[in-house]
Amino acid sequence: MSEQMTGVCSYCGQTKIADNPSEKERNYTVTKNCDCSEGQGFRKEERIKDKIEKANHQINILFGQDQQNQHTEPVQNQRFIELMQELAEAAIRDLIRKASIEDEDSGTKGTISVNTKKEVKIERGDTFKQSRTV
Ligand SMILES: [Zn+2]
Repeated sequence: MSEQMTGVCSYCGQTKIADNPSEKERNYTVTKNCDCSEGQGFRKEERIKDKIEKANHQINILFGQDQQNQHTEPVQNQRFIELMQELAEAAIRDLIRKASIEDEDSGTKGTISVNTKKEVKIERGDTFKQSRTV
């Protein structure tokens, strides 16, 4: 087994076959796929990060500048968006089951909840009000 074809798990030090071009990538591949408990923890963390990335993307579509609904406006309050992202991460990490926030200016509500299938649901609620004062 040539050294160019192996990588080392950065947790347990086991050497395994990997065929990435650079040593850094080979070590990463082996660490990522290693069956030691730290390797498994690493994979879990990768799955969590992937889920957080997807949640942030959906939050941007629902509330941020990427939002695609022609009847609603992007929420201008950047802190609101950040809080939604933090709440989504807390839900993904099993720290909270449900949380709602409401934007001071627009009255837009954001809700993060976890369903029985452990999926994280992101909801936007807008209140449409019309009033006239004479
Ligand atoms: Zn390992």
